[in-house]
Amino acid sequence: MSSSLRLVIIGGVAAGASAAARARRLSETAQITLIERGPDVSFANCGLPYFVGGEITDRSSLALQTPQTLKAMLNLDVRTGTEAVEIDRTGKRVQLRSLASGAIEWLSYDKLVLAPGASPLRPPLPGIDDPRILTLRSLQDMDRIKAAAASAQNVIVIGAGFIGLEMAEQFVHLKKTVTLVEMLDQLLPPLDKPMTLFMEDELKRHGVGLALGDAIAGFSPASGALACQLKSGRSIAADLVVLAIGVRPDTALARAAGLELGTRGHIRVDAFMRTNDPDIYAAGDAIEVRDFVTGDATAVPLGGPANRQGRAAADHIFRPTETKPLPGALGTAIVRAFGVAAGLTGWSEKRLRAAGRTYRTVTVNDNHHAGYYPGALPIILKLLWDPADGRILRGAGQRPRWRGQTYRCNRRRYHWRAHYRRSSATRTVLCATIWFGQGYR
Ligand SMILES: Cc1cc2nc3c(=O)[nH]c(=O)nc-3n(C[C@H](O)[C@H](O)[C@H](O)COP(=O)(O)OP(=O)(O)OC[C@H]3O[C@@H](n4cnc5c(N)ncnc54)[C@H](O)[C@@H]3O)c2cc1C
Repeated sequence: MSSSLRLVIIGGVAAGASAAARARRLSETAQITLIERGPDVSFANCGLPYFVGGEITDRSSLALQTPQTLKAMLNLDVRTGTEAVEIDRTGKRVQLRSLASGAIEWLSYDKLVLAPGASPLRPPLPGIDDPRILTLRSLQDMDRIKAAAASAQNVIVIGAGFIGLEMAEQFVHLKKTVTLVEMLDQLLPPLDKPMTLFMEDELKRHGVGLALGDAIAGFSPASGALACQLKSGRSIAADLVVLAIGVRPDTALARAAGLELGTRGHIRVDAFMRTNDPDIYAAGDAIEVRDFVTGDATAVPLGGPANRQGRAAADHIFRPTETKPLPGALGTAIVRAFGVAAGLTGWSEKRLRAAGRTYRTVTVNDNHHAGYYPGALPIILKLLWDPADGRILRGAGQRPRWRGQTYRCNRRRYHWRAHYRRSSATRTVLCATIWFGQGYR
């Protein structure tokens, strides 16, 4: 591969910025251009809820890099406020539009990486366009929510997944009256319900109103507030609503270019992040990955995989023969709400049961260190494995009153790899112990 290769990357956050940085490490002379529609690149999405709630006070700390630092450190040509609007695969060029001036230009590439991410879901419900209903993805979304929260008292968070829980906690820090609405009858849908009960108690203890097993039906203005109607018939008044019900891959550009997409609209890639066009790679929330348990196509919209996939794409572009295929994804995640943390990897019991899979399970209720040593805190660990070969299918843990030195972790991922065998259970437990005790960074 020529060292003056023209590499164009669309999307400048987790996957795109990682691809660009890795590409520069592998080639000093490649012409690397990073195209970003928004005003920011490489920012810390994971920190957004904590700036809203005031735990993070320095907004600039969320911008991990700027176009200027990326130019100075890595000689990247970063174009923010610029949208890629068309890919000409035959001519190997991308059409760009400046959002400020509307000016159009074509940029040629030898290799193209698509890292356009995903957009928050906004279902077409009655009243959904009310300006008091906000979503969180960018620094600008964060600013809007923080500004709206300043004059709001009653806040509804819709969706009790990771972002919903973090937002509910942060609004409590701001002394808002918070209701968390979730369609399923439990928090954290990827976990088995019994594993979520610590968290449920913790939210109630901090005054969060829970509307579980109830979905939003629509919104309508009501005497100054916004009335949120639930499917059950209940109506809750709010000054601010944050929708956190999941994301949809931002793949219109890839679709229009005729790239192969999966059934849910994600870009199909191989284990080297190649699309069906050998000169176009894709990474991050926009792509389909292999489920580690079944090998089937799935989507794991998380920062860790996005970074890794971005680097993997660059590796394959510059060192195709040395690059190893990426294994499938586990959906490894962790979240904290007040004093409780919950982490998971692999498949839940309910999901295995629904898929008709045979499994065995064990749940351990214990302390995070020896009970007779001061400060012992209870934890619950759940392990699921395949009785045929002992392969571990799921590890999940929850610990109340999460505090101490491990609280320094801010990346919310749970590094417990589910490919251990049951015969490696000692090692597996050790990993969980490291997470709770000291190993998570
Ligand atoms: C509030 C919040 C908290 C989170 N917390 C965690 C966490 O704790 N742990 C974790 O693992 N993950 C977390 N995530 C998820 C994580 O941030 C995402 O998985 C990750 O950012 C995905 O990276 P990406 O590069 O694929 O997409 P994105 O980060 O969405 O970046 C894609 C970029 O591409 C740009 N773009 C799209 N189309 C075009 C185009 N046509 N032209 C130019 N630019 C374009 C978009 O403007 C966007 O900036 C969180 C996400 C949010 C929103």
